[in-house]
Amino acid sequence: MADYALVRSRKRRTLCLQINPTGAMRLLVPATTRQADIEAFLRAKAPWIERTLKRLNEAPRTPVFADGLGLQYLDEGIRLRLHYRPGTPEVRRDGELLHVAAPDENQARAALEFWYREAARHHALARIIHYAPLVGRAPKRIRIAGQKTRWGSCSPRGTISLNWRLMLVPTDLFDYVIAHELCHLIAPHHKIPFWRELGRVMPDYEDRRLQLRKIGAHLSL
Ligand SMILES: [Zn+2]
Repeated sequence: MADYALVRSRKRRTLCLQINPTGAMRLLVPATTRQADIEAFLRAKAPWIERTLKRLNEAPRTPVFADGLGLQYLDEGIRLRLHYRPGTPEVRRDGELLHVAAPDENQARAALEFWYREAARHHALARIIHYAPLVGRAPKRIRIAGQKTRWGSCSPRGTISLNWRLMLVPTDLFDYVIAHELCHLIAPHHKIPFWRELGRVMPDYEDRRLQLRKIGAHLSL
């Protein structure tokens, strides 16, 4: 059986298995599900899991930037629609389709990234408004960054930087980074008081941290 992250939720009533485009698996289950039921569920799903992982493995490693490309948008999957035409680049979302109009590939890529950055800023702000009162601290400034290797950081001056690629991971993992960086406003290190504070704000942080780490190794776009 391949590796998977188990997410228990009090709100959930049914078992649900997700495989994202990087091949990372998440099993979402009701809080009280027994291990035996989880194993039975996974056994029943084994052929589907095998087929899906095989298909992902055969797919090219780096997604080709082309019309029809599947993109993650938090918990949703959306599809790229490319329109090459002269003039100012434009991005417009229509349901699960993301229309990008631009003169060439470079400008289309730049427009897409800009659109994701704006979405990241918007989403981050809403989630910081949610988490800041729980942590009891608010950042002085929020910066949307684009490093390949970091999800977020917090400067001694109180600036929280967040990677726009957080838009490519599920919402609860984006939330983890928000809570993590806000807790650095209290404890600017990774020692015990920091984790205690984070555990108070987000009791299941350890689970989310592991899931994010798994995805991080495969992140691209
Ligand atoms: Zn940290």
